Amino acid sequence: MSFFQMAKTVLSSMFKKPATLNYPVKPREYDPIVRGHIEIEIEKCIFCGMCQRKCPTGAIKVERAEKRWAIEPFDCIQCNNCAESCPKDCLHMHNTATPANENRDLIRDARISVDAEDNKDS
Ligand code: SF4
Ligand code: SF4
Repeated sequence: MSFFQMAKTVLSSMFKKPATLNYPVKPREYDPIVRGHIEIEIEKCIFCGMCQRKCPTGAIKVERAEKRWAIEPFDCIQCNNCAESCPKDCLHMHNTATPANENRDLIRDARISVDAEDNKDS
């Protein structure tokens, strides 16, 4: 690239909008259609296990006796099968990434679990 071509590129870039976002001051806005992560309305869940059976990667574990539903976020490929097969419509695909977690044990185990009885008490 010649000096004049480079100067032209630099000067034109000075008057253009930035190509990147000023993150985290300006967080990225995702389209509603983006498949980010699965969330559950645990109070509606009947622990039928349909989501576990339909999950192609085995990311979901349902323990009916303990009324426990758990997901391994790093195993999820965001296919939405579980949400589409849930008879109680309690699984939903959110358009943001899985929230960060400060608990090192949970990150290593990469498991989010929700206890229905705990939720009922709170
Ligand atoms: S399919 Fe729905 S109701 Fe059944 S265990 Fe999964 S989340 Fe609960
Ligand atoms: S979105 Fe797909 S991969 Fe992820 S938990 Fe649901 S069925 Fe499994």
